[in-house]
Order: sequence, then C-alpha cells, then structure tokens
Amino acid sequence: MKQSLLFVPTLKEAPKDADVKSHKLMSRAGIIKQVAAGIYTYLPLGYKVIKKIEEIIRQELDKIGASELLMPALQPKDLWDESGRWDKYGPELMRLTDRKDRDFCLGPTHEEVITQVVRDYVSSYKKLPLALYQIQTKFRDEMRPRFGLMRGREFIMKDAYTFSETEEDLERWYKLFTKAYIDIFKRCGLETKIVSSDVGQIGGDEADEFMVMSEVGEDTITYCEKCDYAANQEHSLLNSGDKCPVCDGTIHTAKGIEVGNIFKLGTKYSESMNGKFAGRDGKPQPMIMGCYGLGISRTLMASVEQHSNESGIVWPKEIAPFKVHIVPINLKDEDQYKLAYEIYESLKSSGIEVLIDDRAERAGSKFKDADLIGIPFRVVVGKDAKDLKVEFTDRLKGEKELVLASEILALI
Ligand code: ATP
Ligand code: MG
Repeated sequence: MKQSLLFVPTLKEAPKDADVKSHKLMSRAGIIKQVAAGIYTYLPLGYKVIKKIEEIIRQELDKIGASELLMPALQPKDLWDESGRWDKYGPELMRLTDRKDRDFCLGPTHEEVITQVVRDYVSSYKKLPLALYQIQTKFRDEMRPRFGLMRGREFIMKDAYTFSETEEDLERWYKLFTKAYIDIFKRCGLETKIVSSDVGQIGGDEADEFMVMSEVGEDTITYCEKCDYAANQEHSLLNSGDKCPVCDGTIHTAKGIEVGNIFKLGTKYSESMNGKFAGRDGKPQPMIMGCYGLGISRTLMASVEQHSNESGIVWPKEIAPFKVHIVPINLKDEDQYKLAYEIYESLKSSGIEVLIDDRAERAGSKFKDADLIGIPFRVVVGKDAKDLKVEFTDRLKGEKELVLASEILALI
C-alpha cells in the first residue's frame, strides 16, 4: 500500500492524558484515538492489527473444534433476571430503556444469551458437547477506565462457551482452550503466565488467568521461585517472602496484565436458566459449562507495552500491520524511484504486505514516522540504488545491513 493513501495521523506529542508508554505510543503512531474516557476509535493501522489478532484466534479455536457465532450486544433484562445478575452485576452494567420503557443492557459478557441460544436446541446428550465463540464489542462502565485500551468501557473481546455432559468433558475443553490460549498469545508475540484466579462476578468452580508480566499491570501475581505455583494475589493473599503453599520454595510477587481468563462455570447458568437435557438414563440434567474470555483490544495494548522502545513500536511479526516498510529517501532520484517501486511490486506479488512511503516528506520525518509505526522489516532506498543496493533492517534484531535488492525476499 502507498503511504500517501493510508490514513496514519502521527503526532509529535502524546495527548496529555495518555498514561502509560503503550498508550502514548499508540496515540502518537496513529493506532488509536480517544473519543471519551475508555472509548476509542481504532485508526486504520490499529484496526489492521486487531484483525490480525482476531484471525489468529479464529485459526487456533477452529483447530480445537469451536464454531464462531455472533450474539447481540443489546440484551433484554428478562434474560438477566433469569440468572439473577440484573440486580447483582452493579453499576458496571450499562443499562438503557427502549421507547416502550423496556429495560436492556449492553452486554459486558454473554453467559445469559449463549445459554438461551443453546438450551432450546440441546434436548438430549446426543447433541453435546458444543463449543461456541464470538468476537464482539463488550460494554462495561468501569469505575476507572485507564491505560488506553487496557481498561476501556467499550472493548473487543473473544468469548467462548462450552457445554458438556460430564465433568470430564469440561476438563477436556478446559485443557484444549488452555493450550489454544498459549498458542494464540505466543503468535501475538506475548509470553504469558497462567495463574489461578478468583471466580468473581461470573461464578463457578475454578478459574485461571493468562497474565503478561508488565510493570503497568493492574494485577499482582504471587508465584513460587521453585515450582509451578502461581496465583492472583486476590486469590492467594500471599506476600513476597512467604513460604510456597505447595513446596518449600519462597513466594515472589510481580505485576501482570490479564489478557485472558478461563472458567469452569459448572451448572450455575444451566441450573438458573433451565439449560437441561435428557441424559443417558432419560432424566433431565443441567449442561456443564465452561467460559473462556480473551481481551483482544487489551492484547493489542499489552503487545505494544512489551514491544516498543523510546522511538516507537516494534510489532511482533505475526500481528504487524505490514511486514515490510519501504522508505525511499528521494523519489525524485530516478534510480531510487525505479528500485523502490521494483521492490514494492515484487514483494506484493509474493504476497507480502508492504507499505511504501511515497509521500513528499523530508527523509528525516519519514524515518521518524517509520520508527513510530514500527513495521518489522525496513528497506531504505537511498544513494546506493544505482548499484541496486538498499539498507535492510530487521527491527526486532536491530541490525542494519547493506544488501542487494534481490536478496530481500530471502531475508524476510
Ligand atoms: P479485570 O479483572 O481486568 O477487570 P475481568 O476479570 O473483569 O478483568 P473478564 O470478565 O474475565 O475480565 O473478561 C475477559 C477478558 O476481557 C479479560 O481477561 C481482559 O483481557 C478483557 N477485559 C476485561 N475488562 C476489560 C476492559 N475494561 N477493557 C479491555 N479489556 C477488558
Ligand atoms: Mg473487570
């Protein structure tokens, strides 16, 4: 794509209320723009990354046999009365009334709707198990929206739900989703730590969180220096220096960003909302549920928080908005013009996503923008173009080298 046609409103200064490094960079790099507290527009570059993350999620969840659907954001109070959560959820629930004075909410999560979808269909054990997921905008009137996309009031989440006949089958799904989450976050360039957590508002029997270690994380994780033990501090109440409850190791603490949360719900919703099926003995029994949340917009933010330096973002390869950034220094120079567009066309025809800076800007400001935007491979076409040579940088490694234009494809 030609950069002159792409809307990338980069800024010299971050907005005053941008509170963490990723928030500042994402505002300056033209990734997101704030509309109101906790409400953002995804600008073209940001939206490209969101779509990449979504695609990775789809691939990994399709692999384990989950099917995608899309439920409404607008949900009637009646359903929330069935589960009892209309009264319990509190001020985080965005409530509204229609012209006939009927109550609705904007979904912060979808246990009620998915149970309503599935209960009318699953009459017998023969229709189980089921694993369903959606990628959708969620609404929560957070008390303290902050850190950009980290804690928004409107945000994008992948939520999945499983329905099983037995506890063993729920356990099987729980493991499948755990593995899928590890793979998803890895492909997004994030190392995560799995910690056991509080079941909280959603309810159920057991839960685990996927944490990205980061100074700006809002959660405190307690973990053992010696064994696998790791738990959210809210859940463990341990402190740094305490003895590990599992082995004789010592507990440490660290800050983490929760990017995913999975729950064994059990029969909480199927009991309260009559999600029953005829079991093998013909008797009605409640479906055993699991639910699996993954914050897509928060993952984007966490990824920038981890992969950036003072001058800009350094996107992990799989979620980068483009793979290669061609920066010609002077397009009025015939050799440079010709070589830059030759590389552009040849990479494009090899199916590589490539951005060419064809703007009539000074080289200095092109470089500043390129650093900020953070595309993984950079090809600078300058005075060596007459010898068909360019400066190639793998930004993750940080090394610059002078190479022949014909070598670029192999280097990528
Ligand atoms: P938190 O403790 O951070 O408020 P939560 O326990 O309320 O999270 P879940 O209800 O489990 O979160 O939601 C699933 C995922 O959605 C979370 O793991 C997180 O990645 C994301 N998420 C939750 N709340 C927000 C928010 N306000 N803004 C952006 N992402 C969010
Ligand atoms: Mg919350």
